[in-house]
Amino acid sequence: MPHVFSLSSASFRAWLAPTGHPMLCDAHNHLQDDWLAPHLDAIAAECPRLDIGAMIVNGTAEENWPRVAALAQRFPFVRPSYGLHPWDVGGRSPQWLDVLRARLLAEPRTAVGEIGIDRWILSRTRPGDLPPGQLPPAALPEQIEVFLAQLALAVELDRPASIHCLQAWGQLDELLRSRPLPRRGVLLHAYGGPAEMIPGFAALGAYFSFNGAFLAERKTAHRFAFRAVPADRLLVETDAPAMSPPADWIEYPLPPAPGGEAVNHPANLAATYRGLARLREVELPALTAQVEENFARLFG
Ligand SMILES: [Zn+2]
Repeated sequence: MPHVFSLSSASFRAWLAPTGHPMLCDAHNHLQDDWLAPHLDAIAAECPRLDIGAMIVNGTAEENWPRVAALAQRFPFVRPSYGLHPWDVGGRSPQWLDVLRARLLAEPRTAVGEIGIDRWILSRTRPGDLPPGQLPPAALPEQIEVFLAQLALAVELDRPASIHCLQAWGQLDELLRSRPLPRRGVLLHAYGGPAEMIPGFAALGAYFSFNGAFLAERKTAHRFAFRAVPADRLLVETDAPAMSPPADWIEYPLPPAPGGEAVNHPANLAATYRGLARLREVELPALTAQVEENFARLFG
């Protein structure tokens, strides 16, 4: 599909890296998350030192959209994205879509995301297991309705969209094939679908972001798939504070969350680039330059 963007790759690169050397780009994280709040100053110091020049920070629910906007005001490397995550569909307000539209219109350079569909969370959540006050995840038809409304908004406002999909790849393929898609393309974040589906998604305009968690020994299918992603559709991400890399790839450890969960530092992105370069048997500078170009083409 054709890609037209307002800023040329060269001028985007100049904006990203005034010194001229390539920058690392985190295609997907959640810097606004509570788990990272105590570490924000350290993160803001470490990321530029590692040449992490841009990160797409994805809001997931109405209540955290203002926090994403505030981070973009505070840090030059933050690129905001707003969406309703499939896990948060059940908690949306009646006016959620109007609030989202108003925010996107007020901030013309922002993306849509994180949006998507998730069958895994449904199989994983038994009604009795939920902590008090937490809503059960919305059923798939309701997730789809909310996903499609946001995808249509991305098309209407000409924004790229970042898509989350777990255990619903056939369904996602069907949905994407049957309607208009964002002209700039879509990101299938932390792509965990089969390698065979990559050409079909790529033909629809999809990009695929490699996550450091895929460096874990047992993630052989994920690594196999990422060898098959076309070079011009490849991106890299942390999903921080989620999806920590395996222990031997963690260069920036953080203390666990109050509930004991692992917390992923966005600066682990640099090790993720090295892991992907090794996996695809390419030189790191070539990979870095290619990913930077892809990032500019999609998020522009
Ligand atoms: Zn995410």
